[in-house]
Amino acid sequence: MNISIIGSGYVGLVSGTCFAELGNKVICADNDAKKIALLKNGRVPIFEPGLEELIKNNLKKGRLKFSTNIKEAVINSEVIFIAVGTPPLDSGEADLTGIEHVARSIAQNLTGYRLIVEKSTVPVETGERVKHTIATYVKRKIKFDVASNPEFLREGTAINDFMHPDRIVIGVESKKARDILTSLYQPLNAPIVVTNIKSAELIKHASNAFLATKISFINAVSRVCDKVGANVEEVAKGMCLDKRIGRAFLDAGIGYGGSCFPKDLDAFVTISENVGYDFDLLKAARRVNEEQKSFYLKKIKDALWVLKDKNIGILGLSFKPNTDDIRSAPSLDIIKSLLQDGAKVRAYDPQAMLKIKNEINGITLCKDPYEVARHADCLLVVTEWDEFKELDFKRLKKQMRCALIIDGRNIYDPEEMSKFGFKYISIGRPSRKDGGK
Ligand code: NAD
Repeated sequence: MNISIIGSGYVGLVSGTCFAELGNKVICADNDAKKIALLKNGRVPIFEPGLEELIKNNLKKGRLKFSTNIKEAVINSEVIFIAVGTPPLDSGEADLTGIEHVARSIAQNLTGYRLIVEKSTVPVETGERVKHTIATYVKRKIKFDVASNPEFLREGTAINDFMHPDRIVIGVESKKARDILTSLYQPLNAPIVVTNIKSAELIKHASNAFLATKISFINAVSRVCDKVGANVEEVAKGMCLDKRIGRAFLDAGIGYGGSCFPKDLDAFVTISENVGYDFDLLKAARRVNEEQKSFYLKKIKDALWVLKDKNIGILGLSFKPNTDDIRSAPSLDIIKSLLQDGAKVRAYDPQAMLKIKNEINGITLCKDPYEVARHADCLLVVTEWDEFKELDFKRLKKQMRCALIIDGRNIYDPEEMSKFGFKYISIGRPSRKDGGK
């Protein structure tokens, strides 16, 4: 099929490239001219494992094209995906300016039947707005369909998630739209859930809100563990063998971040409020998540007493491993708070150094974890990158002024850290000398 994707960020670029890999002819469009220029030169503006090779391969085969020209994208495609950002407004609502803008541009360039698909995460009833906008701005009477096809990929494993999804959700209003989307996704061999547009829109918000709540649930359990000397890892293990509960998203830590969970939870709370329902459960999940960062900062202050002029090393800046994305990353709030208290912060991340440079002043970026550890009074694990799990701890300890690690992601074994001579503090797990094992 001839497809275009408008909005070539984490979702648009991965989806467009994967659709091309499946044999479709794809135009990835974006209004960011710099981004498109980079892509045209074979350079990828984001870090996503495997993406660069896939883009190069599909560019070579002539199945993938990049453009700043929405008109070109609309004219040459039978299916148009909208994958622009829907960032949060101060009110908590999603900012739909990009969606509206794209809907208008599509209308103004429509020359024949097109299927317009929302891939961005949008509030329920956005499909109706998109349909109304296109109908209002289209120059002459041309048939079109609007559909919803929310994306569930995760940064860091995006290509695999797109190619092997647990399910594909399509919200449609016509048989034609249903047939086009089912045939487009047919090569993936995944279960397809067909719903109306509103249900599809809600499935995305409900799924993300549920996952965020699961994280907050185990974090709340970890707070009780901390108080009584129980081990949250053991509790989670005992819980997750129950198939109804499952293993995923039961890792206690400093909470979720990223460009989706915080914003989608806020949006879902606001959507519910707007229709007269007070979604208290989600407000509690959000509160627990915020508290987790304050709780971590309190652990740091309890251990170091006065932070002014203390050297604090940070391992990990991205909101999770295998991405360079720092949008709403817990590292941002943690670093800002440490700097405010007068600490000297050194940091390292395998991929997010460039992005953090544009976001925060006053920290020293280091070339590796050992440089971060030099003269440090304390090391903080903020993102659970694999490379931090296999450090040379003897070497690390030698660099440090005090052998103290405060692990916000529970990536080390307390017993082992103690053997290396570290004072080791983590989340919801007793350190060795507290007993509990
Ligand atoms: P992003 O910021 O990485 O990408 C959005 C892109 O849209 C940018 O390149 C931007 O330049 C472009 N854009 C904005 N307005 C435009 C316009 N008017 N015309 C053309 N291009 C425009 O965002 P993202 O992370 O890819 O997320 C996109 C959507 O997908 C959001 O709604 C998000 O909630 C949802 N989503 C994201 C993820 C994820 O893991 N990032 C997963 C599932 C769903």
